[in-house]
Amino acid sequence: MQVTFLGTGTSQGIPIIGSKHPVCLSTDSRDKRLRVSVLIEWDDYTYVIDCGPDFRMQMLTNNISKIDGILFTHEHADHTAGLDDIRPFFFRQGDIPIYAHQRVLEQLKVRFAYIFATEDRYPGAPAVKEFEVKNEAFKLGNTYVTPINVYHNRLQVFGFRFFDFAYLTDVKTIEEEEMQKLQGLKVLVVNALRIKSHHSHFNLEEALEFVAKVKPEKTYFTHISHLLGFHEEVEKSLPDNVFLAYDNLKISI
Ligand SMILES: [Zn+2]
Repeated sequence: MQVTFLGTGTSQGIPIIGSKHPVCLSTDSRDKRLRVSVLIEWDDYTYVIDCGPDFRMQMLTNNISKIDGILFTHEHADHTAGLDDIRPFFFRQGDIPIYAHQRVLEQLKVRFAYIFATEDRYPGAPAVKEFEVKNEAFKLGNTYVTPINVYHNRLQVFGFRFFDFAYLTDVKTIEEEEMQKLQGLKVLVVNALRIKSHHSHFNLEEALEFVAKVKPEKTYFTHISHLLGFHEEVEKSLPDNVFLAYDNLKISI
Protein backbone atom coordinates (compact mmCIF):
# COMPACT_ATOMS: atom_id res chain seq x y z
CA MET A 1 0.00 0.00 0.00
CA GLN A 2 1.01 3.61 -0.47
CA VAL A 3 0.29 6.47 1.94
CA THR A 4 0.46 10.12 0.90
CA PHE A 5 0.47 12.78 3.60
CA LEU A 6 -1.97 15.32 2.18
CA GLY A 7 -1.64 17.61 5.18
CA THR A 8 0.39 17.43 8.40
CA GLY A 9 -0.56 20.65 10.20
CA THR A 10 -2.69 21.44 13.19
CA SER A 11 -6.07 23.16 13.00
CA GLN A 12 -4.92 26.57 11.74
CA GLY A 13 -2.31 25.13 9.36
CA ILE A 14 1.21 26.56 9.01
CA PRO A 15 1.73 29.42 8.32
CA ILE A 16 -1.00 30.84 10.52
CA ILE A 17 -2.73 33.82 8.89
CA GLY A 18 -0.95 37.02 9.92
CA SER A 19 1.66 35.27 12.09
CA LYS A 20 5.23 36.56 12.34
CA HIS A 21 6.46 33.45 14.18
CA PRO A 22 9.76 32.27 12.64
CA VAL A 23 8.31 28.85 11.76
CA CYS A 24 5.39 30.55 9.99
CA LEU A 25 7.93 32.66 8.04
CA SER A 26 10.18 29.67 7.21
CA THR A 27 11.11 29.18 3.56
CA ASP A 28 11.56 25.39 4.03
CA SER A 29 8.62 23.80 2.17
CA ARG A 30 8.44 21.15 4.92
CA ASP A 31 7.42 23.89 7.37
CA LYS A 32 4.28 24.64 5.32
CA ARG A 33 1.53 22.36 6.56
CA LEU A 34 -2.07 22.04 5.38
CA ARG A 35 -4.75 20.61 7.64
CA VAL A 36 -4.19 16.96 8.50
CA SER A 37 -5.25 14.19 6.12
CA VAL A 38 -3.79 11.12 4.41
CA LEU A 39 -4.50 9.30 1.17
CA ILE A 40 -4.34 5.51 1.36
CA GLU A 41 -3.96 3.46 -1.82
CA TRP A 42 -3.69 -0.28 -2.42
CA ASP A 43 -4.60 -2.41 -5.46
CA ASP A 44 -7.10 -0.15 -7.27
CA TYR A 45 -8.50 1.39 -4.08
CA THR A 46 -8.12 5.00 -2.97
CA TYR A 47 -9.42 6.24 0.38
CA VAL A 48 -8.94 9.51 2.21
CA ILE A 49 -8.85 9.88 5.98
CA ASP A 50 -10.54 13.17 6.93
CA CYS A 51 -11.66 15.97 4.67
CA GLY A 52 -10.57 19.29 6.13
CA PRO A 53 -10.70 22.80 4.67
CA ASP A 54 -7.66 22.14 2.43
CA PHE A 55 -9.21 19.07 0.74
CA ARG A 56 -9.61 20.75 -2.67
CA MET A 57 -5.96 21.84 -2.92
CA GLN A 58 -4.81 18.47 -1.59
CA MET A 59 -6.73 16.63 -4.33
CA LEU A 60 -5.40 19.00 -7.03
CA THR A 61 -1.79 18.89 -5.83
CA ASN A 62 -1.79 15.10 -5.82
CA ASN A 63 -3.75 14.68 -9.09
CA ILE A 64 -6.47 12.57 -7.48
CA SER A 65 -9.27 11.83 -9.96
CA LYS A 66 -11.16 9.11 -8.06
CA ILE A 67 -11.80 8.30 -4.40
CA ASP A 68 -13.55 5.21 -3.08
CA GLY A 69 -14.56 6.87 0.17
CA ILE A 70 -13.68 9.09 3.11
CA LEU A 71 -13.06 7.85 6.66
CA PHE A 72 -13.57 10.40 9.42
CA THR A 73 -11.62 10.38 12.67
CA HIS A 74 -13.93 12.90 14.39
CA GLU A 75 -16.07 15.95 13.69
CA HIS A 76 -13.73 18.88 14.37
CA ALA A 77 -13.67 21.41 11.53
CA ASP A 78 -10.02 20.84 10.62
CA HIS A 79 -11.05 17.25 9.77
CA THR A 80 -14.45 17.84 8.13
CA ALA A 81 -14.87 21.37 6.76
CA GLY A 82 -13.96 20.45 3.15
CA LEU A 83 -16.83 18.04 2.58
CA ASP A 84 -18.52 20.28 -0.02
CA ASP A 85 -15.48 19.83 -2.26
CA ILE A 86 -16.33 16.18 -2.94
CA ARG A 87 -18.56 17.61 -5.70
CA PRO A 88 -16.24 16.83 -8.63
CA PHE A 89 -15.95 13.21 -7.39
CA PHE A 90 -19.73 13.02 -6.88
CA PHE A 91 -20.44 14.33 -10.41
CA ARG A 92 -18.21 11.62 -11.89
CA GLN A 93 -18.81 8.73 -9.50
CA GLY A 94 -22.19 9.26 -7.79
CA ASP A 95 -22.78 9.14 -4.02
CA ILE A 96 -19.45 9.16 -2.16
CA PRO A 97 -19.16 6.59 0.68
CA ILE A 98 -18.32 8.12 4.06
CA TYR A 99 -17.34 6.13 7.14
CA ALA A 100 -17.69 7.63 10.61
CA HIS A 101 -18.91 7.16 14.15
CA GLN A 102 -22.68 7.70 14.45
CA ARG A 103 -22.07 10.90 16.44
CA VAL A 104 -19.85 12.26 13.65
CA LEU A 105 -22.47 11.39 10.99
CA GLU A 106 -25.06 13.33 13.02
CA GLN A 107 -22.69 16.32 13.28
CA LEU A 108 -22.05 16.26 9.52
CA LYS A 109 -25.83 16.32 8.95
CA VAL A 110 -26.09 19.50 11.01
CA ARG A 111 -23.16 21.22 9.30
CA PHE A 112 -23.89 20.03 5.75
CA ALA A 113 -27.68 19.56 5.86
CA TYR A 114 -28.00 20.12 2.09
CA ILE A 115 -25.65 17.19 1.35
CA PHE A 116 -27.84 14.83 3.35
CA ALA A 117 -31.22 16.33 2.33
CA THR A 118 -33.64 13.87 0.74
CA GLU A 119 -36.19 16.47 -0.49
CA ASP A 120 -35.86 19.75 -2.38
CA ARG A 121 -32.24 19.07 -3.14
CA TYR A 122 -30.28 21.81 -4.87
CA PRO A 123 -29.22 20.31 -8.21
CA GLY A 124 -25.49 20.96 -7.68
CA ALA A 125 -25.34 19.52 -4.16
CA PRO A 126 -23.20 16.42 -3.66
CA ALA A 127 -24.51 13.30 -1.95
CA VAL A 128 -22.92 10.68 0.26
CA LYS A 129 -23.55 7.09 1.23
CA GLU A 130 -23.24 6.77 5.02
CA PHE A 131 -21.53 3.90 6.79
CA GLU A 132 -21.51 3.90 10.58
CA VAL A 133 -18.19 2.87 12.11
CA LYS A 134 -18.37 1.02 15.42
CA ASN A 135 -15.36 -0.15 17.33
CA GLU A 136 -15.03 -3.34 15.27
CA ALA A 137 -13.26 -4.24 12.03
CA PHE A 138 -15.19 -3.30 8.88
CA LYS A 139 -14.81 -4.17 5.22
CA LEU A 140 -13.23 -1.59 2.96
CA GLY A 141 -12.49 -2.56 -0.65
CA ASN A 142 -10.98 -6.05 -0.52
CA THR A 143 -9.72 -5.84 3.07
CA TYR A 144 -10.79 -5.14 6.63
CA VAL A 145 -9.91 -1.97 8.51
CA THR A 146 -9.64 -1.96 12.30
CA PRO A 147 -10.81 1.16 14.13
CA ILE A 148 -8.78 2.17 17.18
CA ASN A 149 -10.68 4.03 19.86
CA VAL A 150 -8.77 6.96 21.36
CA TYR A 151 -9.60 10.17 23.23
CA HIS A 152 -8.99 13.82 22.34
CA ASN A 153 -9.42 15.16 25.86
CA ARG A 154 -12.97 13.79 26.47
CA LEU A 155 -13.98 13.48 22.80
CA GLN A 156 -13.93 9.99 21.31
CA VAL A 157 -11.85 9.76 18.10
CA PHE A 158 -11.21 6.82 15.77
CA GLY A 159 -7.78 5.89 14.46
CA PHE A 160 -7.59 3.27 11.72
CA ARG A 161 -5.35 0.29 11.04
CA PHE A 162 -4.93 -0.87 7.42
CA PHE A 163 -2.71 -3.95 7.13
CA ASP A 164 0.47 -3.09 9.14
CA PHE A 165 -0.12 0.64 8.98
CA ALA A 166 -1.96 2.62 11.67
CA TYR A 167 -3.06 6.25 11.56
CA LEU A 168 -3.87 7.99 14.84
CA THR A 169 -4.50 11.70 15.07
CA ASP A 170 -5.82 14.01 17.80
CA VAL A 171 -4.91 11.50 20.52
CA LYS A 172 -4.37 12.46 24.13
CA THR A 173 -5.22 9.13 25.79
CA ILE A 174 -5.78 5.53 24.73
CA GLU A 175 -7.03 2.62 26.79
CA GLU A 176 -4.75 -0.37 27.36
CA GLU A 177 -6.98 -2.81 25.44
CA GLU A 178 -6.87 -0.61 22.32
CA MET A 179 -3.06 -0.78 22.45
CA GLN A 180 -3.36 -4.49 21.55
CA LYS A 181 -4.51 -3.45 18.08
CA LEU A 182 -1.17 -1.71 17.49
CA GLN A 183 1.06 -4.75 17.72
CA GLY A 184 3.41 -5.62 14.87
CA LEU A 185 3.09 -2.32 13.00
CA LYS A 186 5.46 -1.52 10.17
CA VAL A 187 4.40 2.14 10.20
CA LEU A 188 2.64 4.19 12.84
CA VAL A 189 1.44 7.75 12.23
CA VAL A 190 0.54 9.68 15.36
CA ASN A 191 0.02 13.30 16.39
CA ALA A 192 2.77 15.36 18.06
CA LEU A 193 1.47 18.89 18.40
CA ARG A 194 4.18 20.94 20.06
CA ILE A 195 6.82 20.96 22.83
CA LYS A 196 4.60 22.18 25.70
CA SER A 197 1.83 20.00 27.04
CA HIS A 198 -1.72 20.42 25.63
CA HIS A 199 -5.13 19.40 27.03
CA SER A 200 -6.20 17.32 24.02
CA HIS A 201 -3.08 16.35 22.03
CA PHE A 202 0.14 14.47 22.65
CA ASN A 203 3.05 16.85 22.91
CA LEU A 204 6.42 15.69 21.57
CA GLU A 205 7.42 13.96 24.80
CA GLU A 206 4.11 12.07 25.11
CA ALA A 207 4.24 11.07 21.45
CA LEU A 208 7.77 9.65 21.95
CA GLU A 209 6.64 7.75 25.06
CA PHE A 210 3.75 6.32 23.04
CA VAL A 211 6.14 5.21 20.26
CA ALA A 212 8.36 3.50 22.86
CA LYS A 213 5.31 1.48 24.04
CA VAL A 214 3.94 0.59 20.59
CA LYS A 215 7.37 -0.22 19.08
CA PRO A 216 6.48 0.11 15.38
CA GLU A 217 9.26 -0.34 12.83
CA LYS A 218 8.88 3.31 11.80
CA THR A 219 6.87 6.28 13.05
CA TYR A 220 5.85 9.55 11.43
CA PHE A 221 4.50 12.43 13.50
CA THR A 222 1.68 14.61 12.18
CA HIS A 223 -0.90 17.28 13.27
CA ILE A 224 2.07 19.57 13.89
CA SER A 225 1.85 23.15 15.15
CA HIS A 226 4.37 25.94 14.51
CA LEU A 227 5.17 25.62 18.23
CA LEU A 228 6.91 22.28 17.61
CA GLY A 229 9.69 24.18 15.82
CA PHE A 230 11.46 24.01 12.45
CA HIS A 231 11.08 20.70 10.65
CA GLU A 232 14.81 20.31 10.08
CA GLU A 233 15.83 20.97 13.69
CA VAL A 234 13.11 18.87 15.30
CA GLU A 235 13.74 15.90 13.03
CA LYS A 236 17.45 15.88 13.94
CA SER A 237 16.51 15.52 17.61
CA LEU A 238 14.32 12.41 17.08
CA PRO A 239 15.36 8.79 17.68
CA ASP A 240 16.22 6.50 14.73
CA ASN A 241 13.11 5.41 12.84
CA VAL A 242 11.02 8.33 14.11
CA PHE A 243 10.38 11.12 11.60
CA LEU A 244 8.28 14.20 11.14
CA ALA A 245 5.84 13.81 8.28
CA TYR A 246 5.56 16.69 5.83
CA ASP A 247 2.98 17.58 3.20
CA ASN A 248 3.05 15.44 0.03
CA LEU A 249 5.47 12.89 1.53
CA LYS A 250 4.68 9.42 0.10
CA ILE A 251 5.60 6.19 1.82
CA SER A 252 5.18 2.58 0.72
CA ILE A 253 4.39 -0.13 3.23
ZN1 LIG B 1 -7.42 18.14 14.63
